[in-house]
Amino acid sequence: MSRHGFTFSKALGQNFIVNPGICPKIAEMGGANENTGAIEIGTGVGVLTAELAKRAKKVVAIELDSRLIPVLEETLSEFSNITIINQDVLKTDLHAVIAEYFAGMDVVVCANLPYYITSPILMNLLESRLPVKSITVMVQKEAAARICAMPATREVGAVSIAVRYYSEPKILFPVSRGSFMPAPDVDSCVIKLDVLDTPAVNPIDEKFFFKVVRGAFSQRRKNILNCLSSSLSLSKQQIQSACENCGIPSNARAEQLTMEQFKSLSDEIFKSIN
Ligand code: SAM
Repeated sequence: MSRHGFTFSKALGQNFIVNPGICPKIAEMGGANENTGAIEIGTGVGVLTAELAKRAKKVVAIELDSRLIPVLEETLSEFSNITIINQDVLKTDLHAVIAEYFAGMDVVVCANLPYYITSPILMNLLESRLPVKSITVMVQKEAAARICAMPATREVGAVSIAVRYYSEPKILFPVSRGSFMPAPDVDSCVIKLDVLDTPAVNPIDEKFFFKVVRGAFSQRRKNILNCLSSSLSLSKQQIQSACENCGIPSNARAEQLTMEQFKSLSDEIFKSIN
């Protein structure tokens, strides 16, 4: 890196993995094998890219920082199955990438994500229904706990419900801050989201379901009656009767509700206003 005059950009979340035990594990547990195509987001100097290329049929890696391209040409020169796209992943049409590079293959996503865009990237991949088998990513330890939290537990948040709507998330293994250069201020975890063929529940209106989920978690210390009447601009009476119709106490808090209860409540409110 010093030969290339490279300096780390904090703004781009550049903490590169230097512990050699980590990337083979991510590639292996992420399901990269001779029948799969792998998408990587954020290559750094290509440590994970190389492990994916050793195992997968093809790798497409998206990296925003053009200063890394000449470095990657060197570090990945032995591989002929890697395509690097020098672009912002949030502006990349990943459906088109899959159609162009991975026709007829199962596809997995593996990444050590830039922490500043973890949630937008994950939600983007899931909401756009990217046709992939799984998404295996390194995220901050706290984000991992939130993303993988079960409904009706203390750690659950709107993002946990959203992730669980589309996938089955699990924590794979922890990674200490000393495994990175430069070392970040936080520890990390690798998590895997196995993408579901059909969503976990089947609400009448998906957009409205997510509006109810976000609304219910909008003020963590308030009950769903208060949260939902203010976030949906409906009367307390309307929310109260929807709760009664599906047997949910209106003084419950969002973190006490199961996925099924979110679905019933969203359907009840939706029916009452349409
Ligand atoms: N995979 C490498 C590793 O594990 O050592 C690098 C991981 S580092 C945490 C995140 C990488 O994502 C950096 O190389 C950074 O330049 C890149 N990056 C940041 N924002 C990006 C974006 N919007 N699109 C694509 N890559 C991005």
